[in-house]
Amino acid sequence: QAELLNQLKGKENVTKSGKKINIYANIGAVSDVALVLENDASGIGLFRSEFLYLGREDFPSEEEQFRAYKQVAQNMADKKVIIRTLDIGADKKVDYFNLGEEDNPALGYRAIRICLKQPDIFKTQLRALLRAAVYGNISIMYPMIISVDEVKQIKKIVKEVADELTSLGIDFRIPEQGIMIETPASVIMSEELAHEVDFFSIGTNDLTQYTLAIDRQNSKLDDFYDSHHPAVLRMIKMATDNAHKAGIWCGICGELGADTELTEEFVKMGLDELSVSPSMVLKLRKIVREMD
Ligand code: PEP
Ligand code: MG
Repeated sequence: QAELLNQLKGKENVTKSGKKINIYANIGAVSDVALVLENDASGIGLFRSEFLYLGREDFPSEEEQFRAYKQVAQNMADKKVIIRTLDIGADKKVDYFNLGEEDNPALGYRAIRICLKQPDIFKTQLRALLRAAVYGNISIMYPMIISVDEVKQIKKIVKEVADELTSLGIDFRIPEQGIMIETPASVIMSEELAHEVDFFSIGTNDLTQYTLAIDRQNSKLDDFYDSHHPAVLRMIKMATDNAHKAGIWCGICGELGADTELTEEFVKMGLDELSVSPSMVLKLRKIVREMD
């Protein structure tokens, strides 16, 4: 099996009838890039930036973040690297953020909500991302979006950061920017949201949790957590269709993207990208290449 998969390295993700799909990899650390290249993924579809914030006493500096993003971009050469802005809160707690206790952390103060309420934290990360974008094919992705207004606020902050960098004479580039579709609200609003961003990436882990009202970390509910629930599949279809109507691309970066029972259905739905753990890249390539 491993030998057969190895033979697929360097080959395209294309069906027998010529339909292509991008198969990218999810990573959570700079060192994971080795696995991405080893498994011949054509890009990084989700780089979780939380590693920079976890397991330390204070916020990471702009310089430290810049170095990490730049290194990944350079190691990936011209291949796409989609970096997600911080998704701290809920399950990923960090003391120095002083978030306090919440009754419903999954529905709480987390991710883009922290970034919009504490723009200093957000701006430091954005400055590092815009500067690193000069060195490779970086895209930025924003998590936990629920409204068009949030995207407008983000754009305003990105413009402020760009203006500051310009006035300081620091080299930067505003890269492609997309959002995670991982709340039911973002799916329902996907027609409008698609006009505001460059791409969608569906986070099926949270989208399933919020759609089915099932805590993704509560193992007592495993029997109820139906990842193939038609409500979730219809939402994926709806977001994909609305992305295409507006002329932008749509992928999946949640666990469901690696579910081999659904690969054929996702290709048929017209998804442009599946981002999965590096070890799944060649397995999906095999399925796609065997499809009619
Ligand atoms: C998701 O929610 O599907 C996702 C990819 O993000 P995370 O698992 O980091 O919440
Ligand atoms: Mg998520």
